[in-house]
Amino acid sequence: MSARILVVDDIEANVRLLEAKLSAEYYRVLTAADGPTALAMAAAEKPDIILLDVMMPGMDGFQVCRRLKDDPETRHIPVVLVTALDGRTDRVAGLEAGADEFLTKPIDDVMLFARVRSLTRLKAVIDELREREASGRRMGLIGGAVSRMGGTGGRILIVDDQERQARRVSVELSIEHRPVVEQDPEKALMTARGPVDLVIVNINAKTFDGLRFCAQLRSDEATRNVPVLAIVDFDERARLVKALEIGVNDILAKPIDPQELSARAKTQIRRKRYTDYLRDNLDHSLELAVTDQLTGLHNRRYMTGQLEALTERAAHGGKPVSLLVLDIDHFKKINDSFGHDVGDEVLKEFAVRLASNVRGMDLPVRYGGEEFVIVMPDTQLIDARRIAERIRLHVAGSPFRVMGGRELLSVTISIGVAVTLPGEETPQSLLKRADEALYEAKASGRNRVIAHAA
Ligand code: GH3
Ligand code: MG
Ligand code: MG
Repeated sequence: MSARILVVDDIEANVRLLEAKLSAEYYRVLTAADGPTALAMAAAEKPDIILLDVMMPGMDGFQVCRRLKDDPETRHIPVVLVTALDGRTDRVAGLEAGADEFLTKPIDDVMLFARVRSLTRLKAVIDELREREASGRRMGLIGGAVSRMGGTGGRILIVDDQERQARRVSVELSIEHRPVVEQDPEKALMTARGPVDLVIVNINAKTFDGLRFCAQLRSDEATRNVPVLAIVDFDERARLVKALEIGVNDILAKPIDPQELSARAKTQIRRKRYTDYLRDNLDHSLELAVTDQLTGLHNRRYMTGQLEALTERAAHGGKPVSLLVLDIDHFKKINDSFGHDVGDEVLKEFAVRLASNVRGMDLPVRYGGEEFVIVMPDTQLIDARRIAERIRLHVAGSPFRVMGGRELLSVTISIGVAVTLPGEETPQSLLKRADEALYEAKASGRNRVIAHAA
């Protein structure tokens, strides 16, 4: 879906011009002619980006921006302030009002779309994060990460062979970040593979090809997601356009304005942190969904998916799959005599012994309660039986140390084993046969392995 952009300007002709340019690139455009209207529309319509003129009668752009950033409902919407050509003081005031970006009048098309594209991407990430945070809070998993994630303290790699410029950039950024300068592109590529929040590249470097360097960053798996801010010479139009095509995230024109530099760096770093956070969180929540919290083994849900695929393959001429169902003998007695916490300790220790006695390709699972399952791909019944026997001995052979070593418990287990049969086989049918074998093991005295006759 294309982004919705709210254009705010008191001069009708300016609004129409921007509207025409943006619509031609398939952005959807909303318009407002004054501050109060802009605020009302921002609250009601929740646009993705706001392009805000500074000079307006009544409420000016700074005031509007401040109000937008003070309101939790509109705070996350990126604001681009449109300032006069020589708008240095405006920029400082804009930063203080919380603006995310600047454009100078007359608006340059390339810069306009570079900014809009970069902010659209940022906004999409923020939206997803906000959504996830909301659902995460409902589940009691996470809280407040958005507000904690600032754009300062970033590790910034400056790749520039022009010493004076590099030093100036570095000094400016060191107020809020940790910049390092690298003149050699090969070394810079190595550094960029490490923990880096932003790479700033001089596209007009003399001793190396800045564009080629950016392309390398984008093509390397390890650096693909690092934001790149390119320093460009505004007169070199073709290179500037090329840089955007290669996928640099933002551009900074020479001569470098320190305020602009720090604003752009902050925007990119914040975005990088949002994305990293999202990625980590996604991995983490996926992991939570398939892991048993007490033992760290995979859970039943995960096993079901795996076993589904394996039995399917076995049924269609693949290698046999063996299944062990393991159940602790008289576990209830442990709970009753020593308490539930000691029972938990036994479960944890059992999981460790289990995991250390299976092969890499086997899948140990906590099936529920004190019942565990091991899925063994490519395994004949006779081998599965042998491994089951080894596990049984490893449990019965040495007592479990619990309560900080104060108590030694002897624990035994019973194991049922089954293997997939040629033809129709489902996880349910396989589990059922292993369960029957387990029942037989229990009935015939416990602490033993019974394999279901194939
Ligand atoms: P059997 O030899 O026939 O398997 O007897 P058992 O006592 O091991 O089996 P039963 O199914 O009667 O009891 C299992 C007990 O395991 C009951 C339940 O309270 C306990 N249990 C289940 N999950 C947990 C857990 O996460 N922690 C603890 N401490 N106990 C649990
Ligand atoms: Mg039991
Ligand atoms: Mg049981």
